[in-house]
Amino acid sequence: MAFRHKILSIVKALGGFSIAQALTKQGLQVLCYHGISLHDEHCFQPKLFMHENTFQERMAYLDKHGYAVLPLSTALTHMNQKTLPPKTVVITFDDGWLGIGTKAVPILKKYGFPSTLYVTTKDVLNETPVFDVALRYLLWKGKNRTIYLNSIINSTKLSSNSVDLSTHNERERAACFISENCRNYDYYSKQALLLQLARELGVNLNSDEDIPLFRLMTMEQLAQLPSEGMDLQLHTHCHRLPRDNQKDMESEITKNRTVLERIVSGPLQHLCYPSGKFHPLQFPWLKKLGIESATTCLSGFNYTSTERLALRRFLDGENITQLEFEAELSGFLELMRKLRQILSVN
Ligand SMILES: [Zn+2]
Repeated sequence: MAFRHKILSIVKALGGFSIAQALTKQGLQVLCYHGISLHDEHCFQPKLFMHENTFQERMAYLDKHGYAVLPLSTALTHMNQKTLPPKTVVITFDDGWLGIGTKAVPILKKYGFPSTLYVTTKDVLNETPVFDVALRYLLWKGKNRTIYLNSIINSTKLSSNSVDLSTHNERERAACFISENCRNYDYYSKQALLLQLARELGVNLNSDEDIPLFRLMTMEQLAQLPSEGMDLQLHTHCHRLPRDNQKDMESEITKNRTVLERIVSGPLQHLCYPSGKFHPLQFPWLKKLGIESATTCLSGFNYTSTERLALRRFLDGENITQLEFEAELSGFLELMRKLRQILSVN
């Protein structure tokens, strides 16, 4: 990491970022964010959550350096017409975490930046913490402790009951076991399990201001966002997009769309693949449902020739330094990816 940083610093100092910018100006960059922390979530999962100061720094950089931040649909229209302005950036958020409404939106408004939020609707309607993420957070917070799985879950499949939470592997083993064994619980039972685990580990699942962590926004909160410049779009109902069954796939999009139609007046035709997982087999099914674009977790710029149902994005998070962010935006890392591609083919 230190070596990579040194190289990037030298490239930047020698004007390499400006040269890269000129060479990649045809490309559209789509930034991807997930949650903004309400407490210490960015220390727990820095790829998923970002401190609001880091987000503020990113947006200030876009503003100061004259990036053209456009709504997704406008940028795509420009791409289709080959009229994309140089340095165009689209800002996207996945899932609908609470901190996006309370922390990111005021910062975006300050700079007048439009954005797109891809909302997964089942957890919105349930108004309970996103189980798998909250579970792992509790185990991470209790990392100096040992837990006894049989006090959490009644199971005959327990080979080893006690789990020392000091290592990542053991925490993951406990998380997978608990998750697997309560797969059929309803949301209220899962919520009760989280509260019990929080009590046993002495961890607070609320922020210092007593705001619940790992919740998505409510329908009422989401409904305010379009008027604040944030376009709501599709991210499936249950955060899954089956690849082997067209009917199941359609059902995920249709349910997601039906819920969002209650609060969105414009067309819902842009999708983000849950966890970035997709297969080209899904493209004709999605087109039939009127989906015009879909974003992935693949890195890279988008060009006129890029498949609109496999748009690339840069996943920004607390794990990315400001220098890496600038290197990506300048197009320098895009050129490095292209170079690697050429070298791997030859
Ligand atoms: Zn997601």
